[in-house]
Amino acid sequence: MAAIIDGKAVAATVKEQVAKEVEQLKEQGITPGLAVVIVGEDPASKTYVKNKKLACQAVGIHSEEYALPEQTTQQELLALVHKLNEKPDIDGILVQSPLPKGLNEQLVIENINPAKDVDAFHPVNVGRIMIGDYSFLPCTPAGVIELIHSAGVSISGKRCVVIGRSNIVGKPMAMLLLHEHGTVTVCHSRTQQLKEICSQADILVAAVGKAKFVTADMIKDGAVVIDVGMNRDENGKLCGDVDFAAAEKKASFITPVPGGVGPMTIAMLLKNTVTAAKRRAAAGR
Ligand code: NAP
Repeated sequence: MAAIIDGKAVAATVKEQVAKEVEQLKEQGITPGLAVVIVGEDPASKTYVKNKKLACQAVGIHSEEYALPEQTTQQELLALVHKLNEKPDIDGILVQSPLPKGLNEQLVIENINPAKDVDAFHPVNVGRIMIGDYSFLPCTPAGVIELIHSAGVSISGKRCVVIGRSNIVGKPMAMLLLHEHGTVTVCHSRTQQLKEICSQADILVAAVGKAKFVTADMIKDGAVVIDVGMNRDENGKLCGDVDFAAAEKKASFITPVPGGVGPMTIAMLLKNTVTAAKRRAAAGR
């Protein structure tokens, strides 16, 4: 039976550290600030934004929410991003995705000052991740690495399989595992013999977006299984990509959903905001 990796507990430790650093920055007259921009009425996005605000409050980070109507134009959104780029008390800018149809998300990301891009989605920060210079940590994948470390598992030399190749999870996840000296395979919807590949993984990271996609026969005995997925099952209950009940019988360590990767993503966002504020402090701004 697998040991459960408690994402809430690991995230709490990260947040404690962040709160200490916020305190130190405040002593220097700097309060870290995060601006969260939300466009439209997507209920899930509203919940994420609310949770991010609460998390900021809990560690002493100043947060500002900019809720724009569904009909916001590209120009209006870019104008707000430019304003926030210049706002001296704002260290981090986050534009909640998905944006309503008609708005170009990539263009918005590219207009965020890379020094304030706490999601690490700007091409400059993506490029830095590629070369192993983490100006900002890509939040979800960095959270996964912390969770694996928290279990006392070394990634070096291990066979790691990531299912999913999105820009926000799969690709940066593969890169971080590679920097940790894992031997990494990335799978996607065109992958052939997915089951065989997954069942050889010492560390399996699922970021597919499909409930119970990873079944027991895809898991090697004793594997570390990290479930990034956030889906609704047939009863509307939150669940991951992994068939948890079956997987926990084979894995050595496993993350639950909820309470696994999710809390880490927010904790890493807070960490990035503090990193940006420390740079402001160092620059004497
Ligand atoms: P995404 O952009 O939809 O990417 C899904 C990936 O899964 C794609 O690369 C896709 O392949 C692959 N895929 C789909 N069907 C597949 C199949 N049958 N076999 C193999 N691969 C398949 O999703 P995402 O943004 O990366 O998110 C993935 C999941 O993580 C979602 O449930 C999301 O809600 C969750 N998530 C959680 C957090 C958190 O904090 N816990 C953060 C971000 C995302 P192709 O590229 O070939 O289409």
